[in-house]
Amino acid sequence: MKEIRNPELLQKWAAAQKRRSRTIGFVPTMGALHEGHLSLVRAAKKENDLVTASIFVNPAQFGPKEDLKKYPRPIQRDRELLRKAGVDIVFLPSAKTMYPEGFSLSIDPGPVGRILCGKFRPGHFAGVATVVAKLFNMAQPDKAYFGAKDYQQCVVIKNLVRGLDFDLQVKILPTIREKDGLAMSSRNIYLDSGERQRARAISQTLFWVRSQILSGRRDILKIKRQAIARLKPAVDRIQYFEIADPENLKSLGRYQLRMVVLTACLVGKTRLIDNVIMSGH
Ligand code: AMP
Repeated sequence: MKEIRNPELLQKWAAAQKRRSRTIGFVPTMGALHEGHLSLVRAAKKENDLVTASIFVNPAQFGPKEDLKKYPRPIQRDRELLRKAGVDIVFLPSAKTMYPEGFSLSIDPGPVGRILCGKFRPGHFAGVATVVAKLFNMAQPDKAYFGAKDYQQCVVIKNLVRGLDFDLQVKILPTIREKDGLAMSSRNIYLDSGERQRARAISQTLFWVRSQILSGRRDILKIKRQAIARLKPAVDRIQYFEIADPENLKSLGRYQLRMVVLTACLVGKTRLIDNVIMSGH
């Protein structure tokens, strides 16, 4: 596995591969890797000749009161995991290279970036869209891999690729969970044991909603109210709990065939997000 820190070197490497008709799969991450990330790497390995993974804790997507400074950075361990997973290039840019003095450009993802997580993290999705656009131009992938765990991010990125005509395919892979259902996240290490127990209620509530709908209930608004009542005692705050359209994330008042249930909660001080997708039943 080769390490590259300089964007121009990464572009040159990608161009050389393209000349040899090799396809590149790209997995952008913020490090502190877990099985969720590695599932993306494995899919990228399967579907491309070469795999580039990036590790960059992107300051532009953190709010002033968020956990940028304390975000875990186990870089040696991450390197080892990527190497073992068969990644060809790990791209490790610095914040200064990504955002040189005077950089002030930002991609506005539009209304979908201002609802749900966007409401509680103003500027977050602009930070995501901007860094992902830069990373796409640097890594020059044929296919880029993202996890459904960050469902709203997936919608923002699909819009970005369509809207700015990136010549690549976006691949969305299923959420990888702990045995008890908790969605894997680099932030789960912030949870103490009591919080970790309480956090189980998040996925359990989402699965409960899905089971209600699969069993034939169609009263979406009532299901949502009941779900919130179930979740409330376990977590410290529910920022949002929505049943929405999977394309535009608009909140739904009534049943439709394809739906996504999304939530963001605080457990202690840790902000956790999760979702389940339902389609075609
Ligand atoms: P992050 O390092 O949190 O920015 O995540 C990098 C990529 O891994 C994003 O596409 C995430 O959606 C994806 N990811 C994070 N957690 C999971 C998970 N539990 N299952 C699947 N993909 C995930």
